[in-house]
Amino acid sequence: MAMDLRKLFQSDGAEETVCQELDFSGVELGGVKPFCAPVEAKARLKSFAGSVELELEARFTLAMPCDRCAAEVVREYRKEFFHVLVRELENGEDADELIPVPEEELDLERLVLEDVLLDMPGQFLCREDCKGLCPRCGKNWNEGPCGCYEPEVDPRLEVLRQLL
Ligand SMILES: [Zn+2]
Ligand SMILES: [Zn+2]
Repeated sequence: MAMDLRKLFQSDGAEETVCQELDFSGVELGGVKPFCAPVEAKARLKSFAGSVELELEARFTLAMPCDRCAAEVVREYRKEFFHVLVRELENGEDADELIPVPEEELDLERLVLEDVLLDMPGQFLCREDCKGLCPRCGKNWNEGPCGCYEPEVDPRLEVLRQLL
C-alpha cells in the first residue's frame, strides 16, 4: 500500500508518524524463509525545505540455520534507517540516502524490505565459536568430538620427544 506524501510536501515542517506491521513471511533468502514473525515498522516523516526526511525503525525476528552447524538460530533485531525523499533528483546529487518519489507516494513495505535485506548480517552463527559439523560423519562438534580425526603429531616433534 502506497503512502500519500502530498500533504507533507506541501507544508514545510509537517510531521507524520506511521506504524505498520509487515508480513515478509513469504520472502526467501538462501533457501529459507527467515521472517518467522511480522515485521514492525515505524516511519517518522518530517517535511523540510521541499523534501521529506524519513526515519525508519524496523523490529523483526529472524529464524536462520547456523552457517556452520545448521542449528536454527532465532534472533531479534532492531534497526534504524534514514532516507530523504525528494520529488526529483537534481544532477550530481548523491543518491545514496535520497529516494526519488516523483508521484509523491511511498511504498513503505518495499523500502523496509530493501533496507532490511541490504543490512543482513553476512554470517549467521548459533554462537561466536560454533565448531560446526564433522565433514566425515556429520556429528555436531559443539556436542563433543566424534573421533574421525585423531590429532596428528608432527613426526619431527615425535623425534624430539623421544630424545627427551
Ligand atoms: Zn552453529
Ligand atoms: Zn566425524
